[in-house]
Amino acid sequence: MRTALYPGSFDPVTNGHLDIIERASRLFDVLFVGVFASPRKDVLFSVEDRVHMLSVAASKWPNVHVRSFAGLTVECARELGAQVLVRGLRAVTDFEYEFQLATMYQQLRPDLEVVCLMTSAKHSFLSASLVKEVAKLGGNVDAFVPKVVAARLREMQTA
Ligand code: ADP
Repeated sequence: MRTALYPGSFDPVTNGHLDIIERASRLFDVLFVGVFASPRKDVLFSVEDRVHMLSVAASKWPNVHVRSFAGLTVECARELGAQVLVRGLRAVTDFEYEFQLATMYQQLRPDLEVVCLMTSAKHSFLSASLVKEVAKLGGNVDAFVPKVVAARLREMQTA
């Protein structure tokens, strides 16, 4: 059985992340989406909220399971029995960071494969931070995020 882990902050999940999840769910028997329980101060949503929104948005894919994790991504992959790490690529600008990350993962766990999937062109400009910025300034982000996220961001705008 091929099991993969797609790790990230997902603060919040966007349609770009979902595009990668859908592609990966077709390639692997089981796909875990790992939400990094980051202690970073600039995170808008709690890890529980991020896991909840992802679980709702990904509920249509039966082989996709959402988990939170802290610590090393490669350790999380080991615990979940994942042989592959999935990452998303939007544009050339992502490449250098993803390449650096993949090289580090290889040093830490040589038996783990890193697979980068390319998003469709319509999501190539999309980032969670841009969505947060637009929402903070009162813009409508319905076209860029799943309904559950759009609703939460609207609540925040009116609070
Ligand atoms: P991180 O903080 O680990 O970069 P993110 O939640 O920002 O976490 O992203 C997780 C993964 O999803 C990364 O590999 C990132 O490049 C990818 N990603 C983010 N936005 C998109 C998008 N619009 N299309 C495809 N991949 C994306």
